[in-house]
Amino acid sequence: MKRYQKMSSLYAPTLKEDPAEAELVSHKLLLRAGMIRKTAAGLYSYLPLCWRVLRKIEGVIRDEMEGIGAQEIQVPILTPAELWEQSGRYGAYGPELMRLKDRHDRDFVLGPTHEETFTDLVRNELRSYKQLPVTLYQIQDKFRDELRPRFGLMRGREFIMKDAYSFSASQESLQECYDAEKAAYARIAERCGIKALPVVADSGQIGGDTSVEFMALADAGEAELVWCDCGFAADTEAATAEVAVAEGEAGELERVHTPNAGTISDVSALLGVQESATRKALALIDGEGRATVCFVPGDHEMNDVKAEHVFGDYHMMTDEELRDAGLVKGFIGPVGLPEGIRVVADASLKSSEWWLVGANLANYHYRHAQMGRDFTIDEWVDVVCAREGDLCPHCGKPMHAARGIEISQVFQLGTKYSESMGATFMDEDGREKPFLMGCYGIGVSRMVSAVVEQHSDERGICWPVCVAPYEVEVVAMSVNDDVVWPVASKVTEELAAADLEVVVDDRKERPGVKFADADLIGIPYQVILGKKGVAAGNAEVKVRETGERFDVPFAELSQWLRDRIVPARA
Ligand code: ATP
Ligand code: MG
Repeated sequence: MKRYQKMSSLYAPTLKEDPAEAELVSHKLLLRAGMIRKTAAGLYSYLPLCWRVLRKIEGVIRDEMEGIGAQEIQVPILTPAELWEQSGRYGAYGPELMRLKDRHDRDFVLGPTHEETFTDLVRNELRSYKQLPVTLYQIQDKFRDELRPRFGLMRGREFIMKDAYSFSASQESLQECYDAEKAAYARIAERCGIKALPVVADSGQIGGDTSVEFMALADAGEAELVWCDCGFAADTEAATAEVAVAEGEAGELERVHTPNAGTISDVSALLGVQESATRKALALIDGEGRATVCFVPGDHEMNDVKAEHVFGDYHMMTDEELRDAGLVKGFIGPVGLPEGIRVVADASLKSSEWWLVGANLANYHYRHAQMGRDFTIDEWVDVVCAREGDLCPHCGKPMHAARGIEISQVFQLGTKYSESMGATFMDEDGREKPFLMGCYGIGVSRMVSAVVEQHSDERGICWPVCVAPYEVEVVAMSVNDDVVWPVASKVTEELAAADLEVVVDDRKERPGVKFADADLIGIPYQVILGKKGVAAGNAEVKVRETGERFDVPFAELSQWLRDRIVPARA
């Protein structure tokens, strides 16, 4: 007989209340549904339901890796510091690296990633171009002493990663390995029920990409993205979108009274102009200590990462620094700025001649300020954050904004590790050459959070069938009832015999408690058995994600469920 799980003995301690420490939906729900428990900051135990989800995700990964000919291995987590010294990363990696000593005072690290170990593994064994390419991977715990471990499985200090490394004899071969991994990563996300976008993280000199991050779209994501219907997507900090700037009106320079209108929205409302026709002034002290004013379109923000490229280690001016520089908070403009200030503007404003700007006088703005006549800009820079509506650099159409969770990344390493660690092979021409390497990582445990962020509602998780811990939950409304319980028990056995993954709520709890837990845990199909249905020969099936309900005769139940579940498996 096929097995099924009884809820009465399942270790899934559910919680009625949201745990105070959890901010993110996925963190709250995984705790509340009894799937994970915290051992210490960034260290989580995966309880049975979560472990089943993880094993399904790993199953999809293994299947896809096998499909592209990558081979699974397992290397030690504990890594001799020596290897990291050879690559030069022992010092460079910083405090995120977990370091420890053995009893002989020898240094080790707990692997945060394994380029060194894999390179070391092949360097004296893969000797000839004839043996290449080779891609090896593992699924294993990684350790990173994150500054801010948070959001449950999203950013842990110990987490599960699938990491793969490819070794090639030529750039063409590396490109092939990379493309195969990239394509597999897209399929893995999809098969696990995650809607993800490939975001170019780094573009190579030859054109094309040499690194892509897969971002699961979710409001809770830490990354801000812009994406286009044409398929282009980028981090807002990397995007070089075309910013559509509204031109101001031409005319004589005119000072207008704008009492208390110290923000862009105040000014545009007061003067009846679009925000993009105003100019936002950002006062900062650049990395060399110079007082700087930077102008951006009124409806755009300055991006911190881009700004660091331009200004170095800068900071926004404090009220005191503003006063010292002779600037009036909320009313800064390029006309009549105090002497000695570095004046820069985002390049998107270069083609705009007429500006609406602060008058460097409290409660006043200038209309019709003309570039060249009334003011000049010393430097043009790229600092704005791309946003919704900015134009796609590929096709020119307006882009959408979204937030994302980085679930995986593919990367062409080239000879970075093979050169520093002396990992070479004999090429066709008889010469020793360093391997061309690629590395490919998936945040397996983070994917669980990403699935929950994309599949939940106010009552709980809505697992997609492909990664659900179980496929069907039988909810027996009354365990004591001598009609309902025997039927529930028989239905459970039949469904299990039909090769469905079944859990049955056999607990002596009120129906309300069982329904709430069923919705919280989020098994995709609930088979609800009550007195009335049983008398009529029907089960009530509730689809968790859509809330649809169906009355299904017992005789058809297994097939009815199989018709829906089997095709939806990963
Ligand atoms: P992040 O920018 O989020 O810190 P990363 O770019 O440093 O991640 P990689 O080195 O690319 O991470 O690792 C591969 C994958 O491992 C990431 O795409 C992510 O899904 C996952 N990952 C990285 N750090 C963590 C963590 N602290 N907890 C859980 N998963 C993580
Ligand atoms: Mg990454």
